Amino acid sequence: MDQSYPVHPLGTSARVLLSSVYGPFARDDEDGSRALNPMELYHNQVTRTQGAYSLRMFHRSFGLMLLQANMDAPCTLIDFPTIEGFTAQLKSERYDVVGISAIVVNVEKVRRMCALVRKHQPGAMVVVGGHIANRDGIEEMIDADHVVRGDGIRWFRRLLGQDEAAPVKHPAVISGFGSRALGVKLGDGSSGTAAILIPSVGCPMGCNFCSTSAMFGGRGKFINFYETGDELFNVMSGIEAELKTRSFFILDENFLLQRNRALRLLELMEQEGRSWSIYVFSSIRVLKSYTMEQLIGLGVSWVWTGLEGEDSQYGKLKGVDTHEYVRTLQSHGIRVLGSSIIGLENHTPENIDEVIDHAVSHATDFHQFMLYTPVPGTPLHREHQDNGTLLPESDFDMADAHGQFRFNYRHPGIRDGQEEQFLVQAFQRDFEVNGPSLARLMGTTLEGWARYRKHPDRRIRRNYRRAGMVLRTGYAGAVWAMHRQLRNDPKLGPKLQALLRRFYRVCGWPTRVIAPAIGRYIRFMLRREEKRLAAGWTYEPPPIIEKNDAALALEQDTPATERRVKPRVPWVLPELVPVPVASRKRRR
Ligand code: SF4
Repeated sequence: MDQSYPVHPLGTSARVLLSSVYGPFARDDEDGSRALNPMELYHNQVTRTQGAYSLRMFHRSFGLMLLQANMDAPCTLIDFPTIEGFTAQLKSERYDVVGISAIVVNVEKVRRMCALVRKHQPGAMVVVGGHIANRDGIEEMIDADHVVRGDGIRWFRRLLGQDEAAPVKHPAVISGFGSRALGVKLGDGSSGTAAILIPSVGCPMGCNFCSTSAMFGGRGKFINFYETGDELFNVMSGIEAELKTRSFFILDENFLLQRNRALRLLELMEQEGRSWSIYVFSSIRVLKSYTMEQLIGLGVSWVWTGLEGEDSQYGKLKGVDTHEYVRTLQSHGIRVLGSSIIGLENHTPENIDEVIDHAVSHATDFHQFMLYTPVPGTPLHREHQDNGTLLPESDFDMADAHGQFRFNYRHPGIRDGQEEQFLVQAFQRDFEVNGPSLARLMGTTLEGWARYRKHPDRRIRRNYRRAGMVLRTGYAGAVWAMHRQLRNDPKLGPKLQALLRRFYRVCGWPTRVIAPAIGRYIRFMLRREEKRLAAGWTYEPPPIIEKNDAALALEQDTPATERRVKPRVPWVLPELVPVPVASRKRRR
């Protein structure tokens, strides 16, 4: 296999197909899909045991979308195909390059997809990228011409003879779709949904277990797509104009770490009167390096942050009162998603209750729990490899190494598959003590609105006021429904009642009238959803096909007689899988 940088002889005339791996995803099968690892970020690892209260939504393969947006060659992208749909695509058009992106658990699917490309497009170059590229010996497991590690934009630009140093074009795309909660479909309209923004990839902190940091060089390394606050401001303005959204989910592992860029962005937002909301990943230590005025001024309204535990070896939180800071953020309306790891080196069956209680006691709006997992490519994986503590693949199916089931190594203190039970305990205790994440999120949003809706700065006021209408109606109704449903629970009943009263107090008498009316409908949907889930209902993202302008132009230029007949293979969706309405708009 050639590891040097190849150059395609057709340059930007090469026809490119990019694909994510195929589904269905939320089931156990021999291809490596797992029921525990559905294509739903929140339901997969955040609200996993919250049943009908779980927040459900799908996220696109943003890496592939970035590649497509930066390609001058005709490029077709298929996201979440079925194997039949992928095969149909290969049969229907000629491709010169086929790129497949996957995570480490998907070797079997990638192997099968590569074989299909060889069969139906024997002249095509096969390129594989994403986290799977870090898996040892991947070159021997799959029939690919190139395995790409790290920055794929640059790699493809070289391949196609484009200018490597050209500014990175950012696609305008909403962060999630097919959203539903409490059995109710939430609108995917861009005005109410955050757009995705990827300013950088990698993280210089280089925690030894972190695969995203390792993917782009590890400690001290990262790649900036946008170096300055000015560049970022321009990109965000463009996305705002295109999608009519004012919220951005910033997919950057530690966005606020680049202080100059963030503060320049704030300066420009103030100058131009932009009131944007941003959702960020950030360590608490970095958050604390900003004043609350700066965070609010930047529109930080959602924070995803690690809470690795008091005694962990990770220094990010040493000396930080995480409880106090989480409460402070929430009192300013900033929703907090805490992330805790189960199975750190010092965790044992004897102290795991304490570990879980510590995490749960933060009462974050959401809480992610993941198993401490050495992912290929990380320093932690190398350490286990050197120590001989990784489980051989004959004893452990790598499709199960998704962090929600089993360790892929011998843990010093936790044995015999106990980790799965500990993980479930963590999710359950978080729900038992803190209640549905949606209720927590609504409570925090209410606090922000109560505090800032009359703020003297119009920019900030507007940001919080946007939430006003939904708080007084839908959110209040949802809290009413959750309270009704859980009112007999000795812990959650009083908690939800107090929250409902708080809504009534802050929002006033119209909400007292509206909440029960809306709440009755939501409760009906919630109970219906509970029955569906009990009957085994699952959700799958629908297949999506997108062509860039060059591919669309090519399609129109091709004389009908030269077009190959497109087989009428339908996108196959498993039974009991509703297709989110919004997805239809995206199909071409
Ligand atoms: S701080 Fe977070 S993103 Fe950065 S390396 Fe550590 S775990 Fe990864």
